Amino acid sequence: MPKILIVEDEEKLARFIELELIHEGYETEKAFDGRTGLELARAQDFDLILLDIMLPGLNGMEVLRRLRQEKATPVILLTARDSVMDKVAGLDAGAMDYITKPFAIEELLARIRVSLKYRKPETADGDGVSAGSTSLTAGASARPGILRWKALELDEGRHRVTWDSQEIELTNREFLMLKTLLENRDIVLSRDTLLEKVCGYDYMGETNIVDVYVRHLRAKIDEVYGVKMLQTIRGVGYVIRSE
Ligand code: CA
Repeated sequence: MPKILIVEDEEKLARFIELELIHEGYETEKAFDGRTGLELARAQDFDLILLDIMLPGLNGMEVLRRLRQEKATPVILLTARDSVMDKVAGLDAGAMDYITKPFAIEELLARIRVSLKYRKPETADGDGVSAGSTSLTAGASARPGILRWKALELDEGRHRVTWDSQEIELTNREFLMLKTLLENRDIVLSRDTLLEKVCGYDYMGETNIVDVYVRHLRAKIDEVYGVKMLQTIRGVGYVIRSE
């Protein structure tokens, strides 16, 4: 049975969620503050954590940051704030999804099912895939996993992006977005496609998060180096054209 940790300071809401989860057959633990939540998340292996952002003591974002230094347990953030920036910050900090309060319990249960389904397997599966791709490209003269556009170089293996050897700091999702667009050069990608690529599963959040990541990338690349790399195709999506 999947085991889910609920970290929520509104005790009535925490208990309500717990009852619903038990009814669905999940095992649960709950914490009413950030510190206790973090301790439980460190001490036990949960399949998923439901984490409120506004918590006394240690807030949800801080709990997530500290947890990510040690563990990759999937997290769904519970947020009362409906700002795209908060959601982006949460996703960048390593949350898998978020849900805005108040939410219908059916919606939360649906997102829990999706998150559990797409949980990254910590088995030999992942290793097998990367070992295979390494041996495939080992003999190639060009270094594998390098994508270029003008002076920009995206090094997949090192998870590094440079312009003329100058490093550009990107968050994980900005990196994924850039990689997806570079790999699909001259193909216009819709917001839905980009969202799916960047979030890696049946993400149910708003697609305008894609626009936020594009704005970040433009601010870090286009505006700094005076180029027009990321092009908007009105009503369709985004594309990087060949030089
Ligand atoms: Ca709260």
